[in-house]
Amino acid sequence: MSDWESASTARVLPPARPRKLAKVPFVELADGRLQGVVSSGSDIERVYVSSVAAGSYEFACSTNNNRPCGGARGSFCNHIHALITEAVLQYGAERVARYLRVEGADVDAQSIHSVMTGTRPSQADSAAAAQVFSRFLRHLAYVELPPTTAPVPELQWFPPTRAVV
Ligand SMILES: [Zn+2]
Repeated sequence: MSDWESASTARVLPPARPRKLAKVPFVELADGRLQGVVSSGSDIERVYVSSVAAGSYEFACSTNNNRPCGGARGSFCNHIHALITEAVLQYGAERVARYLRVEGADVDAQSIHSVMTGTRPSQADSAAAAQVFSRFLRHLAYVELPPTTAPVPELQWFPPTRAVV
C-alpha cells in the first residue's frame, strides 16, 4: 500500500506552477480521467465539461446544458486542448503523462496532446459529464466558504491533526 492508501488524509499537492482560473476553472486527474470545466470563449453563461480517459484517450466534451461540443467531432476540440495545457500547469507534465499513460512523449502539453490524438481515440458518450460537473459544483461550494479558523462541519472527516502511525 502506498502512503495515501494507509492514511486517512490525502496529501494536497500545490500546483506545479500557478495558473489563471478564468479559462479553465476546474481541472483534475480523477476517476481514471483527465477532466474539468472550460469556459466558453464567447458566452459567460456557458461552460464545457471535457474529459479524456487514461489509457484509451476516449474523449468527451459537452456544454453544461448537455449539448455536444461542435468541435469535438472526430478528435479533440479546443476545450480538451486547454484542459491538457492547464493540467500540465497544475500537476506538471510528467504527472499528467503518467496518469493518462502517455508514453514516449518528450513530455510537455503539446507532445501529450499529439501522442493522444495520434492514436485516433474514439469519442466517449457523455455519461461522465454530469459527474464531472457535479464535482466542479462541489469544488465551488468549498471555494465560496468564508475563510475561517473554526472547524467546518462538512470537512470534519479530515482529522484535525496528522494521524501518522
Ligand atoms: Zn469542446
